[in-house]
Amino acid sequence: MTQTNTLAKSRSGSEGIPHVPMSGLETLWMQIGGTLCNLTCNHCFISCSPHNHNHEQMSLDQVKKYLAESKELGVKDYYITGGEVFLHPEIFEIIETILQYGPLNMLTNGTLIREDKAEKLREIQNRVDFPMTLRVSMEHFDETKNDAVRGPNAFRLALGGIRNLAQQGFSPILTITRSWEEDKDSEMESQFLQFLQENEVPTPRIKILPGFLLGQLAENQRAYQKEERVTDKCFENFDITSLQCASSRMATGKGVYVCPILVDHNFAKMGNTITETLRPFPLAHSACYTCRVTGMTCKNE
Ligand code: SF4
Ligand code: SF4
Repeated sequence: MTQTNTLAKSRSGSEGIPHVPMSGLETLWMQIGGTLCNLTCNHCFISCSPHNHNHEQMSLDQVKKYLAESKELGVKDYYITGGEVFLHPEIFEIIETILQYGPLNMLTNGTLIREDKAEKLREIQNRVDFPMTLRVSMEHFDETKNDAVRGPNAFRLALGGIRNLAQQGFSPILTITRSWEEDKDSEMESQFLQFLQENEVPTPRIKILPGFLLGQLAENQRAYQKEERVTDKCFENFDITSLQCASSRMATGKGVYVCPILVDHNFAKMGNTITETLRPFPLAHSACYTCRVTGMTCKNE
């Protein structure tokens, strides 16, 4: 029996909703790009697009405010995401500012990283002590399969971005949403690693993410079913503090949310400052089921 089936079977109407504790804030995510993206991937769980203004891009001032607070709270590392972060007119100032505080991980679709942008990233990296890591999202090493999800030219442009970064000595982590059966992971992994090697990425690395049945993926594939929820029983043999929401928060232009996955849901906004959000959160959403079943984290490891 799969783990998914075991979990589904373990539910009963009388079981309570588990609350994830805040076990110690380590990571601050910031939704720098808002929900604006130059692509319109048909599996985007927050339905980003060139016209989605649900979350606006964060201003440099907002970023600075959260950074100052995060320092007081002992945050160890930072992640920025969107939408697409390289659409932001102040992205390089934001990157350099964050790197004064700690290591930075950037999630991008890679399509806007032309040669001059990769050079600028190298210049910044050479000026600061903390490392920057880029994560470039693609769907497939096959152009047709990739562009079927990400749109025309997405493959060509993202590959150009990866090569430009590699040219500057960066090793972007290729991030892929799983579109195959889980037992094919190792076979797919080796093909993605080979794809990076062929494109001269110095240290090829990949990250495979599960699909969250939200936004575009819910529309184009299926939504969560009623029984796909977690209960206290689901955590009897699982350390709940290993969930990313036990040690991270997501700052946006509209306030601070529990995690990067639920930024489209008002109930997931926990406060306007990070400090206000350092309390337990009820895992009542079906997306929490995906985190529990897959042990998923949005972080690099
Ligand atoms: S999945 Fe990423 S690249 Fe695609 S639309 Fe959403 S934010 Fe943009
Ligand atoms: S979706 Fe995942 S990370 Fe977000 S609150 Fe639920 S379990 Fe935590």
